[in-house]
Amino acid sequence: MKKYLTLLGSTGSIGTQTLDIIEHTDYKVYALCAGRNVDLLAEQIKVHNPEVAIVADEDGVERLESLTKGCSTKILCGREAIIETASKGVELVLSAIVGIAGLEPTLAAIEAGSDIALANKETLVTGGELVMERVAKNNTKLLPVDSEHSAIFQCIDGKDKNGLKKIILTASGGPFFNRTKEQLKNVSVENALAHPNWSMGRKISIDSATMMNKGLEVIEAMHLFGMPADKIDIVIHPQSIIHSLVEWKDGSHIAQMGLPDMKIPIQYALTYPERVYCGEEELSLPKVGNLTFFDPDYETFKCLSAAIKAAKMGGLYPALVNGANEQAVDMFLNGKIGFLDIGELVYGALSLDVPKKITSVEQIREVDTLGRKYVTENANIKN
Ligand code: MG
Repeated sequence: MKKYLTLLGSTGSIGTQTLDIIEHTDYKVYALCAGRNVDLLAEQIKVHNPEVAIVADEDGVERLESLTKGCSTKILCGREAIIETASKGVELVLSAIVGIAGLEPTLAAIEAGSDIALANKETLVTGGELVMERVAKNNTKLLPVDSEHSAIFQCIDGKDKNGLKKIILTASGGPFFNRTKEQLKNVSVENALAHPNWSMGRKISIDSATMMNKGLEVIEAMHLFGMPADKIDIVIHPQSIIHSLVEWKDGSHIAQMGLPDMKIPIQYALTYPERVYCGEEELSLPKVGNLTFFDPDYETFKCLSAAIKAAKMGGLYPALVNGANEQAVDMFLNGKIGFLDIGELVYGALSLDVPKKITSVEQIREVDTLGRKYVTENANIKN
């Protein structure tokens, strides 16, 4: 029997890989949602023939309509259309929109009773307890797509979680592993975008270079697996073969391994609890040779310290650092601030006072704006 899938963020790295995997599953695409990459969305519509497709704005609608003449897909635009389409109650919604923009559509899908394959980190980073309450209330399955969280999910699935002592997230270290602050002063956008192992979108590539990405993953893991921040460790593992591991009370460690290929965690979220081969390259341990591990450098990679501090402070502090980070990354990508400024500004935002309890989405938006404003007001803009 065909099941329906809505793909939020279809033209990004996760979105395009998801569409490659779909042919190996029982899913049919109900809706595709993209931003400004209208050409690629048009190609996707021709192949997958969804009921609905959504682009950023009216101009996009016009262009998309002319590019897909003869297709029966209904074409819409804007934030309201995304939220409404996410609320249709299809079997699975894969949430891969970048940034806090993913929060409301994902919440709408949870409320509608759809299961969620979650690639958007910000849903849990900014919405935390509020999102988890709604997941419980609506009996929704929240299936992690992030490779680390998929790994932990696979390590603990079916086991008594009371026996869990620690979660250990692995990090590749990004393109700047082992560099000193001095060496990072003048790195270019191109250097920061060149990740050694994973091929990803621009925002997440910068987050990986600053290690903010790992900090956000700590916050995400707290909520997904109900663990406090002090029971989540980070270890640098440059080969990215062990995607994360858990330690049980008796000292036993269980790890999940594989090549650094997002197709594996995407597939598992789509076909759970079954596994399907989707043409991934085989892992050869002799070829990999050595697996090495190091402690992170919290002083050089200040974003990591900021995110962990926010995780411990709780409430809306994660939303605050996330907003500050989105703004700072945007400014770095546009050449307005230096690489190290990102960490300084994100850490600095923690000096603001925000509530310790999340009560509404509006409140999350306000705090997000506050974080962004802190960054624009405190940045030393380059000329
Ligand atoms: Mg990850």
